[in-house]
Amino acid sequence: MQIDLMKSRKVPFFNYPHVYKQYEEDFLRIFKDVVGRGAYILQQEGRDFEENIAKFIGAKYGLGVGNCTDGLYFALRAAGIGKGDEVIFSSHTFVATASAIHHSGATPIPVECGEDHLIDPKAIEAAITPRTRAIMPTQLNGHVCDMDAIMEIVNKHGLLLIEDAAQSLGAKYKGKAAGTFGAASAFSFYPAKVVGCFGDGGAVVTNDDKMQEEIALLRDHGRAKIGEVVKWGMNSRLDNLHAAILDFKLTHYPADIERRRAIATQYQNGLGDIAEIKLPRAPDADVNRFEIYQNYEVEVDATIREKLRITLGEKGIGTILQWGGKAVHEYKGLGLKYNLPFTEQLMKRSFLLPLHTALTDEDVAYIIENIRSFFGS
Ligand SMILES: *Cc1c(COP(=O)(O)O)cnc(C)c1O
Repeated sequence: MQIDLMKSRKVPFFNYPHVYKQYEEDFLRIFKDVVGRGAYILQQEGRDFEENIAKFIGAKYGLGVGNCTDGLYFALRAAGIGKGDEVIFSSHTFVATASAIHHSGATPIPVECGEDHLIDPKAIEAAITPRTRAIMPTQLNGHVCDMDAIMEIVNKHGLLLIEDAAQSLGAKYKGKAAGTFGAASAFSFYPAKVVGCFGDGGAVVTNDDKMQEEIALLRDHGRAKIGEVVKWGMNSRLDNLHAAILDFKLTHYPADIERRRAIATQYQNGLGDIAEIKLPRAPDADVNRFEIYQNYEVEVDATIREKLRITLGEKGIGTILQWGGKAVHEYKGLGLKYNLPFTEQLMKRSFLLPLHTALTDEDVAYIIENIRSFFGS
């Protein structure tokens, strides 16, 4: 593909208006229908979406919740995790993973990730104490962790597994979907996520009847039958309008996954030979994994990262540092006093290139050519 580098274009890191404009007509039709009927909270569209998201990943139950963070918190609460318990998570994650653990009353224990940016099973083993109750791995960037190794640890130590699958809807490990390995897991529909809505939204999935019942109570004020409050709950339901919108978007999602994987392949083919930049695992690199590329997180030497990002920025290309450039244990205000040198180094070297469905092949070629030109290759 011939790309004129002199002819600058705008390639934002993410294109928020596109979330709406992509299917404007359909959204307006859905809005008129759902809102016109006054079907706002816990209505048929919500139940349909719960059934469809569960079916999509091969789980028994789906539950719409206000956001993924609440979903993770509910999963922990429903599993009986709380005060005195320790839950292990990878520090290379969104703070939400740790805050869900914190608010459950348990102690969040951050550990290192590995070369693939996903939780390191050896680090999990090393962090296990008599208080460890659960592991909460993040299926980061649309990738899937080494689930064989993680399940071996879970079974060996009699632990619970709750996946933070916010970034990996539809990703698979040996044919089994991210979010279906443990007691429960949660997904996010924040606008920039692979299936995004027009605000906050989330879902919990589980195969466990008891977990389903508990979480249904927790998200709706602890109400069982109309009026009967059986325990302390919260208000965190997925809006029915959002459920209808998400149910529609889910039908287009398999095509979106293919597009995301095609973009990752284009990056791989365009940049794979440059020694100075480390790319994520390519779509066809591991027969055991089917990954969906929520993000495209690359690594360069810490001393040139900002120079490269500024150069790309001047060419109209948006990049970001995931989590603002810090792992969870590095936020002083949270009081997690850990040294995780591998993760800390990674936070200095990594950044995200644009990867979303509003990108054209020409946009990606333009990004590739500008990176090649930076490295003089
Ligand atoms: C987005 C995200 C969350 C939180 O999702 P919300 O729906 O915004 O609560 C949690 N964990 C990870 C890894 C995320 O990327």
